[in-house]
Amino acid sequence: MPKMLCTCGNLLRYSNIPCEIEYKFISDVDYEGYDKKIDNEELYMRMQSFFLCPECERLWVFWKGFEEAPREYVPIMEK
Ligand SMILES: [Zn+2]
Repeated sequence: MPKMLCTCGNLLRYSNIPCEIEYKFISDVDYEGYDKKIDNEELYMRMQSFFLCPECERLWVFWKGFEEAPREYVPIMEK
């Protein structure tokens, strides 16, 4: 089962389809490149992914796809 350990210690499992912790995004510039109707599967393939840890709300952004390690973003918590 695909999974990774968040810095907070929470085990992030990402084998479910659809995946509860995975979010897809595309840059405004890349999206703007589509000037007509686009197949949703093609759009899906162009999008990048990040995981949201449900425990600590860290984001793990896969800027270069799943072949490379994701970059970790830590939210600043209000005191
Ligand atoms: Zn976490």
